[in-house]
Amino acid sequence: MDFELSPEQRLLRDTLRAFVDQKIRPVAQEWEAEGRYPDEIAAGMAEMGLFGLTVPEEYGGLAADMVSLAIVFEEISRGWMGVAGILGSHSLSCWMIARYGTPEQKAAYLPGLATGDRRTGIALTEPGAGSDLQGIQTVARRDGDGYVINGRKTWITNARHADPLPVLVKTDPAARPAHAGMSVLLVEAGTPGFEVVRDLPKLGYRGPETCELVLDDVRVPASALLGGAEGRGLQQVLAALETGRVNIAARAVGVAQEAYDQALRYAGQREAFGQPISGFQAVQLKLADMAIKLQGARLMTYWAAAKADAGQRNDLESGMAKVYASDVAQECAFAAMQVHGGYGYSREFTVERLYRDAPLMVIGEGTNDILRTVIARALTSGRGVVG
Ligand SMILES: Cc1cc2nc3c(=O)[nH]c(=O)nc-3n(C[C@H](O)[C@H](O)[C@H](O)COP(=O)(O)OP(=O)(O)OC[C@H]3O[C@@H](n4cnc5c(N)ncnc54)[C@H](O)[C@@H]3O)c2cc1C
Repeated sequence: MDFELSPEQRLLRDTLRAFVDQKIRPVAQEWEAEGRYPDEIAAGMAEMGLFGLTVPEEYGGLAADMVSLAIVFEEISRGWMGVAGILGSHSLSCWMIARYGTPEQKAAYLPGLATGDRRTGIALTEPGAGSDLQGIQTVARRDGDGYVINGRKTWITNARHADPLPVLVKTDPAARPAHAGMSVLLVEAGTPGFEVVRDLPKLGYRGPETCELVLDDVRVPASALLGGAEGRGLQQVLAALETGRVNIAARAVGVAQEAYDQALRYAGQREAFGQPISGFQAVQLKLADMAIKLQGARLMTYWAAAKADAGQRNDLESGMAKVYASDVAQECAFAAMQVHGGYGYSREFTVERLYRDAPLMVIGEGTNDILRTVIARALTSGRGVVG
């Protein structure tokens, strides 16, 4: 068993850390408060090739291993979790197109997606269905040599930048089980009838836009069907979400690490009753608990990522890592706020942002309660084993 990163992974981490210190930390507080889209940071990430993290090398991508992917999301989230959102659903959909796309779809989209000239996201959630994806109402009706899509999607991150945007639809709404009639269509920006109607106001996760979309008689060619066969959409999306959960777990580790770092630093500087507050046992217990849980979350995240790198199924592991790390991020953000006393409640201190950003990881890419049911199913069926 080897708990060390490889020399390449260490170099990646150090490079990312320097990028975050130089380009993200100095502006994060101000731009986040303004709700400003960090174009300059996105350009820097493109220069580093990060939009190609999950794109195969033959299409110009980095084809990064999952541990490296986790390192990228962890380091960026230490600086500003919202920025990681720009890469999150983009990387997930690049992976999905690379894995399931037809040769024509890969050739058309992956080179541009790898450089960041094109961006993408993923449109699953609807006003009436999030966890229950088989309950979606968006329908794509076959019409001549294409499909006509009608429906509404909500909470779609990167929607204004995505081209193409993979959209989960029902190609056969009468199919039973419902997933047998579900497909993914790659909808290009500017297609008539496809409209981003509003940006949703959010507690945190500011930076990337998260939007509501309307698809009103949107006509796409049959070649927009991911993989070229109907009825595979839910399976394609669920497989992609497995990689997405490692990214969410890693973002949570980044937020937890930053909360811990801020708390440790502040506890050493702030004095009360004639001594630094780090001398009080109640503060020490918080710091120790944060460090213990944070390191546990990191190990679990790398474990899930390493399983994927070994080519093994990792839905149980990535689910466990996502649930644990996101709970830990919330706990650490709140503990860091408590260590900061009144200042922790101030918008002038980073911990206030961490406290607002942390809950997204509990909700996104499968709520923690849904994932607990998935984990339990794997355990009780004997498919997943712990110990
Ligand atoms: C900032 C942000 C960005 C997002 N970005 C995207 C994106 O880019 N693309 C996208 O498609 N979606 C995105 N989402 C949507 C997100 O994936 C969903 O919000 C999430 O999957 C939950 O779905 P829901 O909101 O419909 O909640 P619901 O499914 O309605 O769940 C509500 C509550 O009921 C519980 N619940 C539901 N069913 C069960 C069950 N069977 N057992 C136990 N408990 C259950 C849930 O755990 C939850 O607590 C984003 C959300 C947010 C907040």
